[in-house]
Amino acid sequence: MAMGEQVRFCDVLVIGAGPGGGSAALHLRRAGLSTIIVEADPEVGTPVHCGECLSQMAVDNLDLELPDHVKALDVKGIRIIFPDGTKKLLSETGYVLDKHLFERWLVQESCDIGAELLLSHRVTSMERVFNSENQFTNWKIDGRGNEFPIECRAVIDASGVAGAASKILDMKTEVEVIAGFQYEMLDVPNDGYLDFYLWPKYSPHGYVWMIPKEGGRANVGLVTTDKKGAIKYLENFIQDTYLKDKPKVNPPWRKEGIKIKP
Ligand SMILES: Cc1cc2nc3c(=O)[nH]c(=O)nc-3n(C[C@H](O)[C@H](O)[C@H](O)COP(=O)(O)OP(=O)(O)OC[C@H]3O[C@@H](n4cnc5c(N)ncnc54)[C@H](O)[C@@H]3O)c2cc1C
Repeated sequence: MAMGEQVRFCDVLVIGAGPGGGSAALHLRRAGLSTIIVEADPEVGTPVHCGECLSQMAVDNLDLELPDHVKALDVKGIRIIFPDGTKKLLSETGYVLDKHLFERWLVQESCDIGAELLLSHRVTSMERVFNSENQFTNWKIDGRGNEFPIECRAVIDASGVAGAASKILDMKTEVEVIAGFQYEMLDVPNDGYLDFYLWPKYSPHGYVWMIPKEGGRANVGLVTTDKKGAIKYLENFIQDTYLKDKPKVNPPWRKEGIKIKP
């Protein structure tokens, strides 16, 4: 901020422009509160660390009207597959998204009704401001980015696994982080169901997924507590199933020329 300029003020500052921050900002603006979203990255939506599926129930709860360009497939439900071949169908409908497009659309929706988005703004400090009677009045948020400091009545921490506010305020909240990897693959047939494999052999304490998109694209990935072995488990799963000879590609949001990796 240049000298002599006034400190910015808003009702609510949202940390992070992921799906959590985007939907928070949308609802804050719908409620008429002045809102600033600060996002550490220079763009919204990438990299995508997600299987990209979203249930209709979540869409309804968030009161969203998804546009077609963010949807990669309409989904009929989920098929749970066990090692002995047993399959259970869950009939909850939903979507596979192109999540980077979804996040950009969501944040833009909030900006269209008055939220302000500040990219390349990383929060590194949060300070409580008190009046002369020692009553809390507001927060003073500082960090890396031209528009800091920003003052606000309330903060929503939507920084995901980074847990920005809990770390800055030393709230002693420990989370266990598990490993997740996925490939985008081609020529994968689908019948409108997501496949979730509960196969400990391929993902100890986790599960494997095949999340299809239109045109034969699919996210094939897993989560597991065994961080070191995760990529090997994924390779083994692909090798041992009908996915064996399907091409792996980089997802469309990744820059051209980068080696294909999960
Ligand atoms: C492998 C994998 C597969 C998944 N599959 C699915 C799925 O299919 N469906 C589903 O619903 N969920 C899925 N998830 C979970 C889903 O991706 C997350 O729950 C979701 O992204 C969380 O959204 P968020 O907005 O809370 O956080 P994030 O998406 O993590 O966004 C946080 C944002 O905050 C920013 N940020 C962090 N620190 C700061 C800071 N100090 N200052 C400013 N900005 C900051 C980050 O740059 C980021 O943009 C999956 C997750 C993984 C890892």
